[in-house]
Amino acid sequence: MANISITRVTDSRMSEVDFEHLGFGKVFSDHMFVSDYKDGQWQNHRIVPVEKMSMHPANMTLHYGQSIFEGLKASMGKDGTPILFRADKNIERLNLSAIRMCMPEFPFDVLMEGMKKLILIDKAWIPTAPGSSLYLRPFMFATDEYLGVAASTTYRLIVLTSPSGVYYSKPVKLLAEDHYVRAVKGGVGEAKTAGNYAASLYPAKLAKQKGFDQILWLDGIYNKYVQEVGTMNIFFVLKDRIITPAEDGAILKGVTRNSIIQILRSRGIQVEEKLISIDEILDEYAKGNLVEMFGAGTAAVVTNVQSMTYKDKTITFAEDAWSLSTDLKNTINGLRTGEVEDTYHFTIRVEEPVRVG
Ligand SMILES: *Cc1c(COP(=O)(O)O)cnc(C)c1O
Repeated sequence: MANISITRVTDSRMSEVDFEHLGFGKVFSDHMFVSDYKDGQWQNHRIVPVEKMSMHPANMTLHYGQSIFEGLKASMGKDGTPILFRADKNIERLNLSAIRMCMPEFPFDVLMEGMKKLILIDKAWIPTAPGSSLYLRPFMFATDEYLGVAASTTYRLIVLTSPSGVYYSKPVKLLAEDHYVRAVKGGVGEAKTAGNYAASLYPAKLAKQKGFDQILWLDGIYNKYVQEVGTMNIFFVLKDRIITPAEDGAILKGVTRNSIIQILRSRGIQVEEKLISIDEILDEYAKGNLVEMFGAGTAAVVTNVQSMTYKDKTITFAEDAWSLSTDLKNTINGLRTGEVEDTYHFTIRVEEPVRVG
């Protein structure tokens, strides 16, 4: 067992929260998990009340962006035991992001235990309305005070938890972006690092002005191979199989993407992970083979695509075509709460033997 100290709030803020109107990522529960890296070691693991932090203006994160994050969900199981969804995959990915950004990896077991304890301490904050969950946001950032471009020698890791309501994902109109790019092979597209999202905001704003909801990113070299959408991986449902872009070092290795592929294959549905050009997509659509298109990510689970525009061509999908995506969304949400039997070993029950206190 890791040595995690616990300081509890004296007064919970829970009574101030309107659980009927949580939204996403706006409300934070009472406690957070914190750990600091210095002298070459992660130390002082602690659960403390959520509070503001002060920092020096020369904090290196503000200048050079060594900052990574994760996003995962805990739900309340039917029997009152909280259930964490695929936290192992998120910890592994956090550490892959850390390596790429020249940051120290965080010990797997300590983070797993820290998140479990945090969930148990703030168990009452797990919303129970269908589709709602406790969103966990682990993140790590540089803390050296220094203006030289270098890797920081000190870091902080925090896990915030945020009760979040039903994430209503309205169907999206996508613009396949043929000028701006999100990532290139060899770059940092595979890392969940802050700068990737900052870089996407301006192209996203331009797309919104043209009436689109989100961008479908194309590859950064040929500008023709489909990558992913904002914070979602993309799937194309063809008549005889499902296709999705292969992990090529530029796209984010989505946990939802991985879960969906496993679920589909377990049902005997063929899933191909491959290089997919935008022309192939338009071709399959023209031939009547492309029946459905959806995005997959932790927050919204599955988001339907209403239309996709590339240059002067727009393809559209009628609402009655959205059957597989709806089914997948219900399956994943059901696994999260224990209503669908977990034959995939995706879920982790958060039970008391994790000593609290
Ligand atoms: C987080 C994220 C996803 C989705 O990953 P999940 O693990 O399924 O939440 C996809 N693309 C990008 C760019 C992301 O940041």
